[in-house]
Amino acid sequence: MNRPIARFGAAVLFAALALPALAHEASAASSTPTPQDGYFQTITPVAEGVWLIAQPQPFHIQPIGNVVVIEQSDGLVLIDAGGSPGAGRRIVELVRSVSAKPVKAVAITHWHGDHVLGATSIVQAWPTAEIIATDVTDAHLRGRSMKAYAKGSPDAALQAQFDKRLDGAETFLRDTLAKPDLSTRERDGFEASQRLLAQYRRDTRDLVLVLPTRTFVDSLKLDDARRPVELRHPGRGNTDGDLIAWLPRQRVMATGDLVVAPIPFGFNAYPADWERTLRAMQAQHPAVWIPGHGAAMRDDAYVGRVVDLIGRTRDAIAPLAAQGVTIDEAKKRVNLSGDRAHFVGDDAWLTRWFDRYWTQPFIDAAWREAKGEPIEQGEG
Ligand SMILES: [Zn+2]
Repeated sequence: MNRPIARFGAAVLFAALALPALAHEASAASSTPTPQDGYFQTITPVAEGVWLIAQPQPFHIQPIGNVVVIEQSDGLVLIDAGGSPGAGRRIVELVRSVSAKPVKAVAITHWHGDHVLGATSIVQAWPTAEIIATDVTDAHLRGRSMKAYAKGSPDAALQAQFDKRLDGAETFLRDTLAKPDLSTRERDGFEASQRLLAQYRRDTRDLVLVLPTRTFVDSLKLDDARRPVELRHPGRGNTDGDLIAWLPRQRVMATGDLVVAPIPFGFNAYPADWERTLRAMQAQHPAVWIPGHGAAMRDDAYVGRVVDLIGRTRDAIAPLAAQGVTIDEAKKRVNLSGDRAHFVGDDAWLTRWFDRYWTQPFIDAAWREAKGEPIEQGEG
């Protein structure tokens, strides 16, 4: 299971779970997330004129990226767009619940589908909204990374392929639940994931990838008297084209998936750059950190833990890579359980996904880095 996840990248995590698609049996399409699942995003203020749209439950196998809403004098700026047309429609309603102003721009933090595939619903609601990304992210969206998605209008053949990948995820969940040795916590988690997959199927009908209309290399200012926004490429980290948003007046920083809580995502990352990038962001001393997933934070304690985790993983891997140990052997020898406990405690469900979404892919990345091998972005 490790390799396929690392290879696919994090664009559609359910799809990354997909085993070769087996016969599609009875679909779970009738099931619906419960309030306890904490799946549907809600909107809360984080500063005057700034809101966060986030999932109440911060970890899901297939999460929806956070969206930040910033009110400027002549319209709203969104950071990210949600992970599906359905999530995008709900984001439109949430945005309208706090401001009557139109959305004038959406800045995409990185190319992964859980942050960009809702944009189609946002431009339906506000057709003149600009879609902004770094030039590197723009290239991923137009290129191989997102070649599985229709551009411009829905595509029946591509949609059928996408749906088939979800069949594979459904099979994976069903097979896993058939195992007798799951803890109650894990069983609850997988059962919730079945409900959420059914919702995700509904949300991902008529998938269309909206492409950027404006790009930048290092930084772009969206000026405003009260809430200017500085979009920046702070360096590589979670991807090679990461974008962050900085509100100098409010000292709010939206990080995209450079910061994700409670489980950071380590797919196809750039370990040394990531450490450097996060330290530079800390040096800005944000008053509010808004991660790509998870709740807003009022200090950098969590970010510091991520920096430490990246550093310790690199330090553990580098000598093993130099000794010529195989990567599979290295994964067995490196013990990050102490660090992991700082993030997820003894929660069996989160422990399982910490290993799948962070430890294994990040060790892959640290290994490649130590060997001087290229780190390439995956496919969605
Ligand atoms: Zn994400």
